[in-house]
Amino acid sequence: MSIQWFPGHMHLTRQAIAERIKDIDVVLEMLDARLPGSSANPLLAELTKAKPALKVLNKQDLADVARTALWLAHYNARPNTRAISLDASVTAPAKALIKACQELAPLRGGLTKPMRVLVCGIPNVGKSTLINTLTGKRAAKTGDEAGVTKAEQRINLAPDFVLYDTPGVLWPKIIVAKSGYNLAASGAIGRNAFDEEEVALELLHYLIPNYGAALQARYQLDVVEGQSDEQVLEAVARKRAPLLGRGRANLQKAAEIVIHDFRHGVLGAISLETPEEFAAWHAEGHKL
Ligand code: GDP
Repeated sequence: MSIQWFPGHMHLTRQAIAERIKDIDVVLEMLDARLPGSSANPLLAELTKAKPALKVLNKQDLADVARTALWLAHYNARPNTRAISLDASVTAPAKALIKACQELAPLRGGLTKPMRVLVCGIPNVGKSTLINTLTGKRAAKTGDEAGVTKAEQRINLAPDFVLYDTPGVLWPKIIVAKSGYNLAASGAIGRNAFDEEEVALELLHYLIPNYGAALQARYQLDVVEGQSDEQVLEAVARKRAPLLGRGRANLQKAAEIVIHDFRHGVLGAISLETPEEFAAWHAEGHKL
């Protein structure tokens, strides 16, 4: 089993981005700082490869600081690329963002040649939140549901700085199974596309060796280290969910709890991949 996910309408988005890209100076791709590799869209990279790229690792408040630093270094080592991390909902990101764009396209700026930035990213990564924070108003719609389609927006951040919102919806593209699980755990894909127990087990598979202490503390478990994914899920169920008939543990409820707690940062600041791990998943050929 893996994640069943069939994005629709990508041809329309592809056309819209291909058309818009001609007048763009910097392509800003928002990524989820907890899973930067998996939340990137390879189609975007292909359509925009000639343009300077700004990678914005958003939701840094939920991500592991040390791992975010690894990802920033990873992207900053690429030609024609800058990376910054931020928390689109609470900080004032305009300064860092404008500075990064100016470094990427130093010839742009000024009233006759405004900086034109295209804001892209998969649903739920925080694009609307960023635009709202930047403009100081509710210019763009935000929501928890992945994939609310909206018309393209043009936002004048300053007289010489224009943001364009993604034309169309840039669905995630799942290339390796691990990315599918990480996207599901983060809330980036619809809940009908995956089985919560399976996703929770995959999540625990990563958390047990990497964030075992956080699991132990949150669910008051006796042991986590050396336990199987199934054993930990069962232990969470016994601690946190009413038993089913004949004393059976409610694994479905435990799965929902673990996924919820990860999504909302209740387990602490956690990232699900490093650049090295992400590269290894591809190299190992865990392709779908
Ligand atoms: P969009 O689909 O890319 O426009 O994503 P939204 O802006 O609608 O954000 C999706 C969800 O993520 C919303 O519930 C936001 O409140 C939340 N969100 C956005 N940015 C951040 C952030 O930096 N940190 C945290 N913790 N949540 C965020």
